[in-house]
Amino acid sequence: MKIAMVGVGYVGLTTAAALASWGHQVACVNHDAKKIAQLRTGQVPFFEPGLSQLVSENTKANRLSFHTRLTTALQDAELVFLAVQTPMDESGQANLSFLRQAAGEVAATLTRPAIIVNKSTAPPGTSRLIQEIIAQSLHPCPVVVNPEFLREGSAIEDIMHPDRVVVGGRDQEAVNKVASLYEHLDTTIVKTDPESAELIKYAANAFLATKISFINAIARLCDQIGADVEDVSLGLGLDQRIGPAFLRAGLGYGGSCFPKDLSGLLHWAKGLGYSFDLLKAVQEINTGQITYVFTGIRAMVGANLKGKRLALLGLAFKPNTDDIRESPALRLAQLLHSEGAELAGYDPQAMVQVAAAAPYIKLCPDVETACTDAEAVLLLTAWPEFVRLDLNELAKVVKAKIFIDTRNVYDPAVVRAQGWRYWSVGRP
Ligand code: NAD
Repeated sequence: MKIAMVGVGYVGLTTAAALASWGHQVACVNHDAKKIAQLRTGQVPFFEPGLSQLVSENTKANRLSFHTRLTTALQDAELVFLAVQTPMDESGQANLSFLRQAAGEVAATLTRPAIIVNKSTAPPGTSRLIQEIIAQSLHPCPVVVNPEFLREGSAIEDIMHPDRVVVGGRDQEAVNKVASLYEHLDTTIVKTDPESAELIKYAANAFLATKISFINAIARLCDQIGADVEDVSLGLGLDQRIGPAFLRAGLGYGGSCFPKDLSGLLHWAKGLGYSFDLLKAVQEINTGQITYVFTGIRAMVGANLKGKRLALLGLAFKPNTDDIRESPALRLAQLLHSEGAELAGYDPQAMVQVAAAAPYIKLCPDVETACTDAEAVLLLTAWPEFVRLDLNELAKVVKAKIFIDTRNVYDPAVVRAQGWRYWSVGRP
């Protein structure tokens, strides 16, 4: 099929490359000429494992193209995907201005009927808004909702092997056409109305965030009684009704999706007259988790952090991405900085982003430099390279052998046996 993709961020670009690899002709559009020039040579403007290769292969095979002009991208398109950002506005609601603008531009540019497919996450009812905007076009264009569930860091794997695909719309022919894109995948396709499709996405993110806050609350109780949250988590997760995913205690959730989508869902529910108190508690626990870990750090290195050099390992919001949006590591760093700590940081991919967002962190070229003279080493994001640190080597450069493992990746007994004082979340 001929497909246009409006927006070439994490979701738009990965989806476009995957669709092209399935044999479709995909034309991507973004107004940023520099970005488009980069993409034409196969350079991906952000870090996502394997994406650069998938983009290059499909660009070379003439299935994937990049444009600055919508007119060119929309030419002959049967499907027009919208994959633009829907951030949180100041009041906590979903900011739909980018989506409105993109839909408006498409409506003004279309020269033939097409199916509009919304991939951006937005409150239930947004497809109606898009439909109203698209109605200004001279052509009949059904709107279909096709939410995205990929995770940054494993985006290609997630698109190629999804747990399910959701397609929502009122025009059955359009729904079937969008669903047919995914029929070769070994997965379940849920066909539904647009509002249900929109709500599935919001509910999925809210539920996953709830699991994280739940286990973090349990971790705090574990600390009170000397229990081990990792064992509790294992015992919980083996129950097939619960499942093991998202039951890792730590620094809490962050990123470009969970915080804003939880907030968006809360506001949308409030608009319907429902106070979603469960989600308010989830948010509260997540915010409190930073303070909780901060208190743990103080207990280990002393209450007065002024002038103390701390090594921060991992600053992206999770491993395998350079995305620092709502990164818990940076929220903790901000708190430590406000208490006068001197911060030396290293992240395998997010250094450029951190330099711009948190200039108070002295960025170091590697783990060893970050840890040199540190009064404590703080593992904040569980990148694979931090899971296999040689602690005996690190011991030679640090000032004090204190290891704060906010992601519970090390065995406490092993680290302590190497002479370190060790703190993790919810473990004795
Ligand atoms: P992003 O910020 O990485 O990318 C959005 C892109 O859209 C940018 O390149 C921006 O320049 C472009 N854009 C904005 N307006 C445009 C316009 N009028 N014309 C052309 N391009 C335009 O965002 P993202 O992370 O890819 O997220 C996109 C949507 O997908 C959001 O609603 C998000 O909630 C949702 N989502 C994100 C993820 C994720 O892990 N990032 C996962 C699932 C769903």
